[in-house]
Amino acid sequence: MDLALSCWQLGREMAMTRLGHGRQTFRLLKRSSLLLRIIAVVFAVLLFCEFLVYYLAIFWCNWPEVQTPAYDSEQETPEPVLRAMFLADTHLLGEVRGHWLDKLRREWQMERAFQTALWWLQPDVVFILGDVFDEGKWSSPQAWADDVKRFQRMFRHPSHVQLKVVAGNHDIGFHYQMSTYRVKRFEKVFNSERLFSWKGINFVMVNSVALEGDGCGICSEAEAELTEISRKLNCSREVGDDWDDASAFCPRVFRGHHEVPSVLLLITQLPPPFPPAGDCQARWINRLTSHQQEQRPSQCGDVQLLPASTPVLLQHYPLYRRSDADCSGEDAAPPEERTVLFTEKYDVLSREASQKLLWWLRPRLVLSGHTHSACEVLHAGGLLELSVPSFSWRNRNNPSFIMGSLTPTDHALSKCYLPREDTVLITYCGAAGLLAVLILAHVELLASPFHFGWNLLRKHKIM
Ligand SMILES: [Zn+2]
Repeated sequence: MDLALSCWQLGREMAMTRLGHGRQTFRLLKRSSLLLRIIAVVFAVLLFCEFLVYYLAIFWCNWPEVQTPAYDSEQETPEPVLRAMFLADTHLLGEVRGHWLDKLRREWQMERAFQTALWWLQPDVVFILGDVFDEGKWSSPQAWADDVKRFQRMFRHPSHVQLKVVAGNHDIGFHYQMSTYRVKRFEKVFNSERLFSWKGINFVMVNSVALEGDGCGICSEAEAELTEISRKLNCSREVGDDWDDASAFCPRVFRGHHEVPSVLLLITQLPPPFPPAGDCQARWINRLTSHQQEQRPSQCGDVQLLPASTPVLLQHYPLYRRSDADCSGEDAAPPEERTVLFTEKYDVLSREASQKLLWWLRPRLVLSGHTHSACEVLHAGGLLELSVPSFSWRNRNNPSFIMGSLTPTDHALSKCYLPREDTVLITYCGAAGLLAVLILAHVELLASPFHFGWNLLRKHKIM
């Protein structure tokens, strides 16, 4: 009897041990399966929210179409189109403001957005309309060097893509903070050129912080530079005015063109001998050149001619406007802020500085930053100014940039929206919810066999 009991007990213990081992293996398998699922969900969400989402957003952006009249009706060579991206107010955080995680996240977002846009859209030139840095106005030399290094990594670009940056009040300080030292260190990194001409298009990049109009040293220098640019543009426009005679002189070749194509302008800048005479175009150029020599205003002297195209004005502060009351669209300022009156020389340029700029440069288009919100303003004479919203998710839920297709005579603009911050956050929250469900389901699965075994033992003891 005792022997039978011992055998039964031994058998029971062995069965329990086997059951224990089986249960452990089952638990291990379940745990590793849960871990794999968690890793898969986390990886998929990170991949989507930190990489793919930028491709998904920018994939829908297209360069706007612009009319491109042919140079020569026989060869039908179209005018070159310059593809330009305009973005503003990146506000890279410095060492003082903002949490390190905020800094890391915003810079990662901007880097991914910029690099994806470069890869997909292949612009010729990118303009950043000021406030590249948040703390350039007070940063120490070491902090400035660190900020510049991070900027250069984030906004790296192939050598055939030009990157042009306009100074903003956070880069060199508001007028009262601005110093020659800060302006020079900014220009050392980003070049001090105010005039940039490419594919027959002139861009004037203004240091709008220096347009205070109080005669300060930096302000006087900035105004002198602008009047010199104005002189160059006006002298070049003389050639453009002569163009009107061309259609009468060579109606077959110049039919339908209203401004001198840049390629012809280049020819007129070359020293003699000019292209072989005999065809109408070359004869007209010879005539035009001698006409210029005779008729050119004395103040033009030996000014190097620019493309005769009216310039595009790029600056950080917007031209004077009372408020954003007339702005509309999903990325305009919030309704409660739109009617708040702007302060001259702080929110927008002064009336006087705005009038000077328009008088000196006679631009065909103005793009500015600073307000962080979008706005389309139609100034007197039908001049369009576009306020470019901030490129940083720290300032906006829905950052964007402007895409411009420009020719010497025409331009077309469109906006490319980047991923919305709330969409990304909702995706992360959804993923966190999914993970919670997975873990809960797993805990239940583990609990079920345990309860099953416990109940079996209890039943056996009762028996
Ligand atoms: Zn600003």
